Formats: sequence, structure tokens, C-alpha cells
Amino acid sequence: MFTNTYLDELVQKYRENRLAHAYLIETNNLEKANQDILTLIKIINCEEEYQPTCQKCNLCNLINLANLPSIKVINPDGISIKKNQIEELKQDFNTMPIYSKYNVYIINNAEKLNPSSANALLKFLEEPTPGILGFFLTPNKDIIIDTIKSRCQILTLNYSTTLEEELNITTDQKEAYYQKINEFLKAIATNQNINIKTLILNDFPERLDILNIFQIILKLYYNYYLKLTNQIYDESLLNIYPLNENLALINQKMQITTKILTNMSYNVNIELILDKYVLEMRGIYEH
Ligand SMILES: [Zn+2]
Repeated sequence: MFTNTYLDELVQKYRENRLAHAYLIETNNLEKANQDILTLIKIINCEEEYQPTCQKCNLCNLINLANLPSIKVINPDGISIKKNQIEELKQDFNTMPIYSKYNVYIINNAEKLNPSSANALLKFLEEPTPGILGFFLTPNKDIIIDTIKSRCQILTLNYSTTLEEELNITTDQKEAYYQKINEFLKAIATNQNINIKTLILNDFPERLDILNIFQIILKLYYNYYLKLTNQIYDESLLNIYPLNENLALINQKMQITTKILTNMSYNVNIELILDKYVLEMRGIYEH
């Protein structure tokens, strides 16, 4: 599910009822870490079987809109996180959540907690109330005030900065993938009789290349989804293949693409999988 396996471990811990009440997370990308934590909260709460694109359930929708009262995100007010921000949080979390399993607070740049705001938080950390889950995010855990650090479980969430790093490919390879993805998606949309063998497999016979290609296709659709739901997205991915489609179509394409990636991890004939992919993608438009 996550690019970072620590988060899968947290999901597992939740299922085993072993979540800590507060985590201090050192990360090189606060934005992505925030998104991943929200995804984690969705997985914990989703009323359907969670998919990254869940639009069906009320909770996922509220989280997407940053409108779920049981999630509070605190950012520094100027150069520090002020005591009154913490007091307000405590007030809000005085009662158990109504719709979700936890009251969740996320404190960004937790290194900016000053001694009085950190003290105001100690009640949460020293006598943990069941049903409250905290995340302290920081680029550097060593500058976090000790009263906080000593009461949290510490995790590191580092993210690769580029697609090349993430997939371990060169820029030339990336460009070749982009080109092929463009041809492939165009062929699905326009050509009734696509020959997968000549279109993809002649140039990229290796399974690893195919996997990379479909990971990028999934990212492409995911970034359309982010754009359509007014979240931060990566324009360079959208440029691979310009689309003007609604959320329902993008969701279906993401699901079909997720499925092919799962199938590829089994040792199934790659040509069969690819043919099935084309059929399913074309099928979206036929009803
Ligand atoms: Zn949901």
C-alpha cells in the first residue's frame, strides 16, 4: 500500500491493537508524510474495503476535504507552536470521536513546540486517553524538546525525491517509458486491434520494465485523481498523457491498473495480462 513499509507496519499494529498513542516521525517531506498519515487514518476508518480512491464512504470523503472533526492538524503559528493552539486541541478532543475510531492530531514542525506548549501537551502523553492518536512531525528529531521525545515512539519516514530514485532508473529510461506509455494509452483509446507484442514487448521484453511502466501509469492516474480532488499533484506526470476525464473514469482506471500490478507479482503470462488490461480499459467506455 505505502511506499514506506513503516506505514504498513502501523496498519498491522492497528489490526493487532498495538498502536502507540503517539509517534514522533522524522521525515524529509512533511507534505508526503501528512498525506500518508491521512491515508493511514482512512485505512483504519474506511467503511468500505479501503482503496486509495475510496469515494464511497463518508469518512474518506470528509478526510479528503479536511473536514473530519476528529482530525486536527496543527502548524506553527509564526515561529512557534503556541500554548493556546494546544489548549484548543485539548478542548476539541475532550470527548470521544463520534464517527471515527480515533481523535487524531498531527503536529507539523514539532521542533517548534516551545516549553509551555509542550507542557500543555503532557497530559495527552502521560495519561494517554484511549482513542487519541498523535503524530509529531519534524525534519530533525534531535531538536525536539525532550519531554515530548521521551514519550513518543520514534519513526523515520524518508521519501525519494524523484521518480528516477524511486524506481531506480536513469533519466533516459524514464523518458523511454514516458514515450511508450503515451503510445500505449493512445492506442488503447483509438486502435481497435492493438498488438501488445509489437507495441510494448518488442521494446520492453523484461518484466521489470513492464512493472515500471505500469507503476508510472498508476501514478499518472493517481495524479489526475489528486488534481480532480483539489489536492497537490505533479504536473510533469500529467504531461505524459493529457486526459480530460471525470473522477469516476479515473477511479476505474486506477483500479484496473492496481489489479494488473497485483497480477504481475504472480507469475502469470505477461502477454495475457496485458491483453486483459487493454480489454478492461476499453470496456470502461462501452457501458
Ligand atoms: Zn472509505
